[in-house]
Amino acid sequence: MKGLAMLKIGSIGWIEKEKPAAGPMDAIVRPLAVAPCTSDVHTVWEGAIGERSELILGHEALGEVVEVGNLVRDFKPGDKVIVPAITPDWHTVASQLGFSQHDSGMLGGWKFSNTKDGVFGEFFHVNQADGNLAHLPDGVAIEDAVMLSDMIPTGFHGANNAEVAYGDTVAVIGIGPVGLMAVAGTNMRGAGRIFAVGSRQVCVDAAKFYGATDVLSYKDGAIEKQILELNRGQVDKVIIAGGDMETFEQALAIVRPGGIISNVNYLGAGDYFKVDRVGWGFGMSHIKYVGGLMPGGRQNMEYLARLLKYGKLDVKPLLTHRYKGFDKIEEALGLMKNKPRDLIKPVVTM
Ligand code: NAD
Ligand code: ZN
Repeated sequence: MKGLAMLKIGSIGWIEKEKPAAGPMDAIVRPLAVAPCTSDVHTVWEGAIGERSELILGHEALGEVVEVGNLVRDFKPGDKVIVPAITPDWHTVASQLGFSQHDSGMLGGWKFSNTKDGVFGEFFHVNQADGNLAHLPDGVAIEDAVMLSDMIPTGFHGANNAEVAYGDTVAVIGIGPVGLMAVAGTNMRGAGRIFAVGSRQVCVDAAKFYGATDVLSYKDGAIEKQILELNRGQVDKVIIAGGDMETFEQALAIVRPGGIISNVNYLGAGDYFKVDRVGWGFGMSHIKYVGGLMPGGRQNMEYLARLLKYGKLDVKPLLTHRYKGFDKIEEALGLMKNKPRDLIKPVVTM
């Protein structure tokens, strides 16, 4: 089979590989739609997960089951399925502790395009199919459903970890597709005022669509100062979905004592955070910091899919670029790398 792979750090190409085989609990799926992710860009061009050779990329897909193992109960060939980016092994102690993202050690639940071939192949392997796949509900468009793989669950994870409550003031730093879904999740959880930090017009418009009450740009000066002025004080919660180590310092400067900083951003540069001793209340601020990888799993996919099926969440504003055909994955990934100003998220349907 053919797949678009990372050949080594900084280089991608089409390769031929053996079609994967399903173990007793697994499924083999062919993609019907895929989306490239900023994480694929980090993986290839920033060496985020280290050197990989001939590793098929991609972890966001909507697919059709072509084969299942003999212990799979709820899926059969021909089923259209939502495939989460994170596919834990559900029997491990870490999973039982509620942190399936780290099923086999730190970030171990992230398997596609990390520790095994990803979804940019003509076929891909899904471990523990009954626990990881979800049926595509009737009436949900295939291209919309791809956003369930990663963008929706990651943004909503940011909002959940921030424990957003009715009336909260929340700042979302970074409004690419993940930050936008964090805005949407924050809005759904009942936040009163949502500050979205971003600058590109297409993202600003989408942030307002998803419920941001105030949008400000980090290009107009220190966001700490802007938010503290606009809000006349600190916010209850901060969700970080863009930038680098400096965003943690910004978050700490704007969150109130006892507030929560929730990070879903990949920290790609720098070795250490700086924690302002005074801003941290000399170590006694009750400010909580939570950084999280999105949870995968069937339950999470089924629940989030209902938001699409019943019209509570519209992902169309995220999908700025559409491609048709398997071969177009390379172009879509290139777009993600180059980030033109009108891009939020590309999607490729087969
Ligand atoms: P993106 O690059 O499309 O969006 C990030 C946005 O942040 C961009 O619009 C960028 O202009 C903006 N930004 C950069 N510096 C900033 C700053 N200092 N202040 C405010 N905004 C700033 O990426 P995305 O697809 O939205 O993903 C966001 C991050 O989440 C990435 O690092 C990605 O790797 C990570 N991610 C995490 C998970 C997870 O499970 N935790 C899953 C998917 C992606
Ligand atoms: Zn992703």
